[in-house]
Amino acid sequence: MAITTIEELREACERIIAVSRELHEAGLLVRTWGNISQRVDDKSFLITPSGIKYEDLTPDMIVKVNINDLSYEGDVLPSSEKAVHAACYKERPDVGFIVHTHQVYASCAGTLGIKKILSYFDDTDMVIPVAPYALPGTDKLAQNVAMAVRKFPDVNGFIMANHGTVCLGENSEEAVFEAKRMEVACHNFLSDVCKTDMKHGVEEGYNSHLENGEIVYDKPDTPIRVRHIHEKIYKKRPDVKYIVHNKSEAVVTVSRRASHMRPLLDDFAQLIGYSVKVPSNEHGRDGQSYHNIKKNVNAVFALNDGAYCVGSTLDDAMAVAIVLDKGCIAYISVMRNGEGHYLSFWESYKMNRHYRKSYSKLADIKGN
Ligand SMILES: [Zn+2]
Repeated sequence: MAITTIEELREACERIIAVSRELHEAGLLVRTWGNISQRVDDKSFLITPSGIKYEDLTPDMIVKVNINDLSYEGDVLPSSEKAVHAACYKERPDVGFIVHTHQVYASCAGTLGIKKILSYFDDTDMVIPVAPYALPGTDKLAQNVAMAVRKFPDVNGFIMANHGTVCLGENSEEAVFEAKRMEVACHNFLSDVCKTDMKHGVEEGYNSHLENGEIVYDKPDTPIRVRHIHEKIYKKRPDVKYIVHNKSEAVVTVSRRASHMRPLLDDFAQLIGYSVKVPSNEHGRDGQSYHNIKKNVNAVFALNDGAYCVGSTLDDAMAVAIVLDKGCIAYISVMRNGEGHYLSFWESYKMNRHYRKSYSKLADIKGN
């Protein structure tokens, strides 16, 4: 199983990229979230780099990391979750390939505060252990995952609470199959137990962007009440150049509830914000007079009408729309389940700050 020749190493790097594209196309990997690795031998593994989009990956960006001390070769920064991968390789000598995703239904199932998800795939019963929460990139998270892997030696699919999955396999086919099977099983669980059978995605309503300082609406029939919100957003947020209006089932459902969304998932806290208000009838006669447009909050809810997702590029605004939809499915699942585990204010705040800092640094590097 060990990789010994240069050709085998090269092949492994190409396989990692092929798998990342496959998972990206299947909707299980989004943007730069998630990571993939392959064991080289009992001392090292190859892993995807930190902060690079799957579309842009090339074999020379795959990093070789030492299993025991996490040191790595070359100038490319390995994924910040390298410790989780290393811990799994140490616990399970039979594992040769690992996939970590932020896939929708498994991640949502991991917000319910349940220690293991009991569900099924086809006619087979499945136990999906949930490793307790710790901040991403920390040793504590790696320890929590290692503990779960040790406790369930026959299981290949694990959830990291409020974050995503870790899928193990002897080879890439096994690990990818596990990720796909877990997604079906977790969707079954959310449908059956939490009565939350929701499609994931973006249903575009009224989008716009700025062109030479002017607002350009995608749809000429954009109503005045909606134009007012767009104008307000661009005025209060000079960094915003694109607005994507997401009217997906989950986002509209949340927009009907007068409340405030606390993050249930790490990527929500990072990309959207640590406290997102939803307007209610109490705010103005029709709720439209109140919109929570804030510097560090990238989604603006409209009463009964979904949310406006903002970004400095179309890609950024779309990523917000996708992560918001997942966050709303999680929110509804927790409501219907009757309980869940929310991230604390400080955890969310820290992640949001850290993400904004490292994202702007990355943008700077790319800009140069
Ligand atoms: Zn992750």
